[in-house]
Amino acid sequence: MSLVFVFRGIRLDYDLGIIGAGPAGLSAAIYGKRAGLEVVILDKSFGGGTVTINPVIENYLGFDSITGAELAARMRDHAEKYVKINMSEHVTQLEVINDRIKITTDKATYRVGAVVIATGSEYRRLNVRGEGKFLGRGVSYCATCDGPFFKNKRVAVVGGGNSAAVEALYLKGLTDDLFLIHRRDQLRAEDIYVNQLKKNNIDIIFSSTVEEIYGDEVLKGVKLHNNSDDKMSELALDGIFISIGNMPQSEIVKILGVELDKSGYIKVNNKMMTNINRIFAVGDVIGGIRQISTSVAEGATAALNSLELLGRKYPF
Ligand code: NAP
Repeated sequence: MSLVFVFRGIRLDYDLGIIGAGPAGLSAAIYGKRAGLEVVILDKSFGGGTVTINPVIENYLGFDSITGAELAARMRDHAEKYVKINMSEHVTQLEVINDRIKITTDKATYRVGAVVIATGSEYRRLNVRGEGKFLGRGVSYCATCDGPFFKNKRVAVVGGGNSAAVEALYLKGLTDDLFLIHRRDQLRAEDIYVNQLKKNNIDIIFSSTVEEIYGDEVLKGVKLHNNSDDKMSELALDGIFISIGNMPQSEIVKILGVELDKSGYIKVNNKMMTNINRIFAVGDVIGGIRQISTSVAEGATAALNSLELLGRKYPF
């Protein structure tokens, strides 16, 4: 059972509710607690966010090289010196009720003075037949996580952006039997990656969409539609890595009238506040350059900017 506080005569379970325990949410929790706020942090999984699946991180200040799993574990441990992380607790609804926000989860309800949305983003799906069936049996959304299972196998990456290029270049180190499948006749990826794809002789199948992923117990191949000549073909594969972008996890606030951009990322001002009073958003769910360092900064910014509206003083 959570603690109950009184703020301007209103009973609050917590000052600050944080949804999502990736770098942005964990940073908000540390800054919030250190500023004297009572904080609850909820994560539908085990915290750490998508950092966890990065094989190696070399651009986070203070760590010249660290695995994502190690960095995520350190971040969780650090935050847990201040606040317990409510793991495996899925937020199902947010309601703004006067000066409070009610958070409903699959386990409890919390009333808080302000909320920080740090829900991140998820991989975009192709939404074709077989994609779900062969997930984990040939279909993957992360070459750097699952690539080693396909050493010297025949694989393809789908997508034409920077992520797809990076995934293809990573897989090239594991297998030479590699294709990049893109729906248009030119890549969206930056020139530096396009040049590296060429230099590494990665076979690019342009103007083609994956129509179906097929197999028996495991994936055996894909059916491709050529968008130029309207012809169908089959490509035998052992694995396919779908790398067609991310979807912000902003559904939970959409219903509240929180403003989103055309891609579904939450719009915030420089205080990390959304257009709805008492709702902040940070990290990958607001889009932009989506780096660990920027997420950490955004979490701190949101927590410190929540102080004034919660009737607290800035601590320094
Ligand atoms: P992205 O830039 O949005 O590219 C997504 C790619 O997937 C596009 O080529 C798109 O095709 C394709 N696509 C989207 N939906 C599709 C569908 N249903 N079927 C087939 N193809 C589909 O996403 P991203 O590559 O994940 O990159 C996201 C952001 O992170 C970008 O800003 C990127 O620059 C950044 N990033 C940077 C680096 C770096 O090292 N600098 C590395 C990775 C990512 P179209 O081109 O036809 O739209």
